[in-house]
Formats: sequence, C-alpha cells, structure tokens
Amino acid sequence: MECKICHYECRLLGEIAFNKGHEKEDNIKIPEDGKYIPYYNCTFCGFIFTTYFDQWSDDQFKRYIYNDAFFSQDMNRSTKAEIPSKPTDSSSSSAASSSSYMDGLKLQHLIQQFQSGGLLKKEKTELNVLDFGSAGNPGDTAKAFIDNGYKITCYDPYTSGVKYEPLTGLFDVIYLVEVIEHCFDLDATLKLISGHLHDDGIILLTTNLQPYPAPADVINHWYITPRTGHVSIFTFKSLFVLFRKYQINLINNPTVLFGKKIKNR
Ligand SMILES: [Zn+2]
Repeated sequence: MECKICHYECRLLGEIAFNKGHEKEDNIKIPEDGKYIPYYNCTFCGFIFTTYFDQWSDDQFKRYIYNDAFFSQDMNRSTKAEIPSKPTDSSSSSAASSSSYMDGLKLQHLIQQFQSGGLLKKEKTELNVLDFGSAGNPGDTAKAFIDNGYKITCYDPYTSGVKYEPLTGLFDVIYLVEVIEHCFDLDATLKLISGHLHDDGIILLTTNLQPYPAPADVINHWYITPRTGHVSIFTFKSLFVLFRKYQINLINNPTVLFGKKIKNR
C-alpha cells in the first residue's frame, strides 16, 4: 500500500472493528463486508489511514456513518477533541450551549488575536469566513459567528439533505474543526481549500494529532474509529507534507493548527 500523502510505502497497522468504541450503540448498522476495516501506517510520514471507504457512495456514508445517531450530541461528545481555550463572550442563542457553538466563540477569539497581531489585516465586517465541514447550513459553530456579526459561508460534503451553494470566491479565514480526519480524498480537499484561500488568508484547523513515530499500540487509540468516519489520522509531519503540496505552510500552534499560503517571490 502506498501513502496517500507522500506515496511512501505503508505497513498494515491492523484491522479495526467497524463499531470500535461504539459497541453499545443501539441499532448500529455494520456494512456486510466491513465488520473489520484495515488501516495502514506510512513508514515515512506516519499517516494512518484506510482506503476501505474510498469508493463509497453518498448513500452508503449516510446509511452507515453520517446517520441520525452520528449527529446526536452523544456521538459528538465522544469523538471530539475540544479547542483548549476559554472565551469570555456569551450569547442567548438556543445553540449557545453546544460544544460546537463554544468552538465558534473560541475561533473568534483567535481571529481577534490574529487581527491585533497584524496577521489578519481586515476588520471583522470585511472578513470572508468559510466553515469547511460545517455540519449544517449554518451549523452550530457558524451560528456563533453569525450571532456576532461575521459574514460566513458554510460548506460540508457530508451532511446529506442540507443544501450548500458551490464554493465561489476567496476567503480570508477558512476553518476546519474536526473535519480533515473525515476526508478520504485528501488531494481533492486540499485543492478546494487552497483554491479558495485568499493570498493573505489564514487556515485554522483542529484534529487529534498522533505522535511520530507511532506507539506500538496506536491501533487501540480512541480516535481511530471507522464508525465515526475517522478515515485519515495524522501526525503533524503528514499534515505538514499534505498542506505543503498545496503551497500552504502549517504551524503546530498549541491551540489550533494554523496555515498560511507560501508567497511566491
Ligand atoms: Zn506518508
């Protein structure tokens, strides 16, 4: 098996039960030939991935992974890595208690820091923000932006039944909160993101990073779960190589990963 990112040789990490970590889920649907899902590990960049879902149709994803149970609060709580910072803002919106809404407030706090540090030149009202993988139009994270007067576009390839406009134009801020681990066609994803990022724009990204090299028992890690659509598990090295291919420099900021276009001189 060849690495999806650096094309180096990969070893079979092992086969992971489809329902790993979700053994108690009621009425879980398990694909007939997919009780166990093979995951691979790149010997160069440390990327951990499966190709099992690469040819799946939208209907298959909707049936086995992105179904009603997936979008329930319980599932979200068990599979999310929180953005570690405490904002002081509060809101009376009905979505305000969700962790995704809180993520939205934390992201705004970061954006303000980038503005005062000069990394983002535009004022709030001029910023074009893209929520990539928004889980709704708007999703709860985007609602936190709307409530505070930001201009935001939502996009998600996976929430079936919700309409999204095709992406047009350039964005000053593109954020991906717990999204990239769900993407199996990474080149298509990066092409889309990079193609819509303004030359002076920034990317804010969260995903659970694995150490490199991987510990011997990495296959048991709670984040590597087919049921929740975690098909791409990154080391910082693998994520760095992936973004670099699309002229984006990625920095491992302790709060969120931060990306910016590499300028041609
Ligand atoms: Zn690799």
